[in-house]
Amino acid sequence: MAKHIIIDRDGTLIEHIPYLCDPEKVRILPTVKEGLQILKQSGCRLFLHTNQSGVGRGYFSYHDAERCNQEMLRQIGLGSDLFERVCMAPESPEQPADYRKPSSKFGREIMAEYGAAANDLCYIGDNVTDLLTAKKLGCGGIGVDTALHDLRKMLAENDLSGTYPVVDSFLEAATYAIRR
Ligand SMILES: [Mg+2]
Repeated sequence: MAKHIIIDRDGTLIEHIPYLCDPEKVRILPTVKEGLQILKQSGCRLFLHTNQSGVGRGYFSYHDAERCNQEMLRQIGLGSDLFERVCMAPESPEQPADYRKPSSKFGREIMAEYGAAANDLCYIGDNVTDLLTAKKLGCGGIGVDTALHDLRKMLAENDLSGTYPVVDSFLEAATYAIRR
């Protein structure tokens, strides 16, 4: 069982709104709360890893992005400490990537800090970059097709068809994660 689950935010947990910076626009996606509950009840450690290039582009501040996280956690209702650690990568694609996915830096830190093997780590996300991050780490990955990206097609274009399961809801991803 993957005990350390690193979860994407936009398009996976909440509705994807480009350059979201207004907490009032935060909308939790269907089945997210149930899925997170299952992961928690199964004893998984949960982490959030989100690319927020709007910070690097100067569209909004890091604090604005944090306020959206707080609103998301409030709506989920499973406590403000749901995630053991939150990684928001502020770089724009033009800036040198530090934590920006598909950077494996955050995942490597989790493995070191928690003594987790790659087998005990799993990324859940709606974009090919989430699974490219998993590929770099050699850890598990589960794609959630929330219809924003044609995830199956993007995986095929990156020679990753069949490497990672793609499911249609967060609840299915959570169920898959605790069974693998
Ligand atoms: Mg996403």
